[in-house]
Amino acid sequence: MKVAVYPGSFDPITFGHIDIAVRALKVFDKLIILINVHPTKHALFSAEERKNMVEVTMKDYLDRLEVVVANDLTVDETKKLGATHMIRGLRAVTDFEYEFQLTHANRVLDNEIDSIYFMTDNKYSFLSSALVKEIGLFKGDLNKFVPSYVVEKMKEKLK
Ligand code: ADP
Repeated sequence: MKVAVYPGSFDPITFGHIDIAVRALKVFDKLIILINVHPTKHALFSAEERKNMVEVTMKDYLDRLEVVVANDLTVDETKKLGATHMIRGLRAVTDFEYEFQLTHANRVLDNEIDSIYFMTDNKYSFLSSALVKEIGLFKGDLNKFVPSYVVEKMKEKLK
């Protein structure tokens, strides 16, 4: 069984993340969304809240999709979870430099775990969790960017 891990902050999950996850599910038998907890990065939602939003919004895929909160280095988690590849998304050329660095750093850490990149649908190429949080903060309409469950959670969090 081919298993991949899709690591990220998912703070919160957007239609862009979902687009990448669905593409990866066409290639792998099982996908594990790994919620990263960055000690230096301030997240709006707790890891458990982010996990819940992924599970609810991707409920149609839960027979082949699992959501796990990371406690360790991503490559180590990937191996522990029995996956061979990490999935990442590319929006635009601007993502490339950071992702290039990340892939090579991960290869130094563990050369057996490789990364696979999917390009998002063009309509999500501008979309990021940071943008969603900014629009949410100013009470903008988020329905075109995130699923309705996440819109509700954003409203609760920011009220
Ligand atoms: P990180 O903090 O690790 O960048 P994110 O949750 O922001 O985590 O993103 C996780 C992955 O999903 C990254 O590879 C990122 O490039 C990708 N991603 C995020 N938003 C989009 C989008 N709109 N389209 C395609 N890929 C995306």
